[in-house]
Amino acid sequence: MKVLVPIKRVIDAYVKVRVKSDQSGVETQNVKMSMNPFDEIAVEEAVRLKEAGKVSEILIVSIGDKSTQETIRTALALGGDRAIHVQSDDALEPLSVAKCLQAVIKNENPHLILMGKQAIDDDCNQTGQMLAALCDLPQATFASNIELNDSEATVTSEVDGGLLTVKVSLPAVVTTDLRLNEPRYVSLPNIMKAKRKPLEEVTIESLGVTLKQHQKVLKVTEPPKREAGIKVDGVDALLDKLRNEAKVIG
Ligand code: AMP
Repeated sequence: MKVLVPIKRVIDAYVKVRVKSDQSGVETQNVKMSMNPFDEIAVEEAVRLKEAGKVSEILIVSIGDKSTQETIRTALALGGDRAIHVQSDDALEPLSVAKCLQAVIKNENPHLILMGKQAIDDDCNQTGQMLAALCDLPQATFASNIELNDSEATVTSEVDGGLLTVKVSLPAVVTTDLRLNEPRYVSLPNIMKAKRKPLEEVTIESLGVTLKQHQKVLKVTEPPKREAGIKVDGVDALLDKLRNEAKVIG
């Protein structure tokens, strides 16, 4: 069984993001970049399924500029077998990413597409759903557990007030949620081994995809600065401020 894992290179989750002075976006120069955390969970799950003997090949796919290859190598070090890098210097919107992935899926015929539920830079939470629709494949989103056999995936997700378990026939798109697993650390020997794993570079044109921009970012701004807190003398003073200054109690 072949699993395709799309991964996105994003600003590291622990970096304090700075907005560019012209408000056209966020600073990415000299900023630590990493694999989108939900994609790391998807890679980890694919590796666990391979270790359990249910998967035979893990194909990593990422769309991005040249630096994306560093993140792809990390995915290969985590256990991916080979990778495809779709070159693009532009930040693509989810529909465009989904169209590129659709073209790769057409060539590769994976049994399962395992991807993050959302990228932490744009928080779109759209690509998996759009990809399933474009490919006319079943989808199961926000997986917190995945059981796999040759023809079906049983996927559990956390919903308000409980758990929802659905069964989808393969091939299918499954998106990962935070509690699916805890990704392993990459070991040095595996980083070395990953350098020799196959990484194919392709262009969007060679995939036969034509993209159209549907969105224009007007501006990106920082959230309002938080005012410094104050210490009050006691409960009465606190109640007074809540009642008369913040006006949050009657
Ligand atoms: P989004 O819809 O942008 O929140 O992204 C959801 C998921 O789509 C991510 O977790 C990735 O698995 C995948 N994805 C988004 N952008 C890319 C990209 N440039 N290359 C590969 N996969 C991507």
